[in-house]
Amino acid sequence: MRQTTADHGERPVLGPGQALRRIAFLLERQLADTFKVKAFRNAAATVLATDPAELRARAGAGTLRELEKIGKATEAVIVDALAGRVPAYLEELERGSGPLETGGLALRERLRGDLHSHSDWSDGGSPIEEMVMTAMEVGHEYLALTDHSPRLKVANGLSAARLTRQLEVVEAVNAHTGDGFRLLRGIEVDILEDGALDQTPQLLDRLDVVVASVHSKLRMDAGPMTRRLVRAVEDPHTNVLGHCTGRLVRGGRGTRPQSEFDADAVFEACAEHGVAVEINSRPERQDPPDELVALALEKGCLFSIDSDAHAPGQLDFLDYGATRAVELGVPEERIVTTWPLDRLLEWSQARR
Ligand SMILES: [Zn+2]
Ligand SMILES: [Zn+2]
Repeated sequence: MRQTTADHGERPVLGPGQALRRIAFLLERQLADTFKVKAFRNAAATVLATDPAELRARAGAGTLRELEKIGKATEAVIVDALAGRVPAYLEELERGSGPLETGGLALRERLRGDLHSHSDWSDGGSPIEEMVMTAMEVGHEYLALTDHSPRLKVANGLSAARLTRQLEVVEAVNAHTGDGFRLLRGIEVDILEDGALDQTPQLLDRLDVVVASVHSKLRMDAGPMTRRLVRAVEDPHTNVLGHCTGRLVRGGRGTRPQSEFDADAVFEACAEHGVAVEINSRPERQDPPDELVALALEKGCLFSIDSDAHAPGQLDFLDYGATRAVELGVPEERIVTTWPLDRLLEWSQARR
C-alpha cells in the first residue's frame, strides 16, 4: 500500500528525469502554482526525450539551456542529479514531504487506491501515464480514471467517442503496469438537472467505476435537488456519489455554500442501493461536511475516500480525507477503498 514519502534518508539518488518529476510531485501536493510545476514536468519530458550521452555532454559544456524547456532552475537540478548529488531544491522540498496530515495515518496505510482522478483528457493537468506512474509510486494498487462527461464543457468533458477511445488507452496502459497495479475504467459523470446521468447506459456499462456528481445548478431548491440526487443514486450505474454538497470552503475559486437537499432521503437511498458516499479529500472541498458524514454513517452508508486529483501530486490528498474519516469515526470496513480490488469490483458491478 503506501510507501512513506518521509524516508529520504535512505532514498537512492534520483536520475535527472526522476528528480524533476519528484520536484513536480512535491510542489503539486502543496498546491504550488501550475506554471511552476509545469516547468519541472516539461523539463522532465525533455530529459526523457534526450539521449543520456548528449545530456552529460551538455551538462559539462554548460549548454543544457539550449534544450527546449530547460531553464536556470531545472538546469541546476539536472547538473546535480547527473553528478550523483541530491539537487538542493529537491532536498529542501523533501524536508516537507511527510504526510500532509497525520491524524489518519493508520487508515491511510490501509487505503488501496482511489476512485476519483482526472487527466489532461478533461480538466486535469497531466497525461494518463503520468497519473499512473505517480499512483504506483505512492503505493496504490489501483486508480480509477474518472474524467468528466460531455455536458461539462468548461472541463473539456469527454464525448462518447472520446471516452471510447480513452478506454483503449486504459487497456494499453494496463498491458504495461504488471500485476501489482490496475488503472480502472471510470468516469465522473455529471448528474443532470433531472437526475439523469450524462453518458449513455451502454458506455457506463463498460466502466469499472462510476462517480456521479453535480456540477451545475447547485443552488436549486431543496425539493428538486433531493429528487435529482436520489434519482442519480437509484441509477444502477452509480457507484459513488461525488462531493455531494458542492461546497467550497477555501481556495482560489473562493467559497461556495453547500447545496440544499433532504440529506436523510439521499443517504437512505445511498444505503439502500449500496452507493458509496464520497469523502472528497480536496482541501478546498472537504465534502461532505462533518455533520453529513455523521448522518451518512448513521444511515448505514458505505464511503469512498477519494483525492479528486487533477494533478499527480494531488493523489496524496488522501491524507486529508483519511484524517477526516478517522476523526469522524468512520469504520474501515465501510470504506470501499480499503477492500481488496476483486471485492471492490464485485461491488461496483453488482447493480449493472
Ligand atoms: Zn466534480
Ligand atoms: Zn472530479
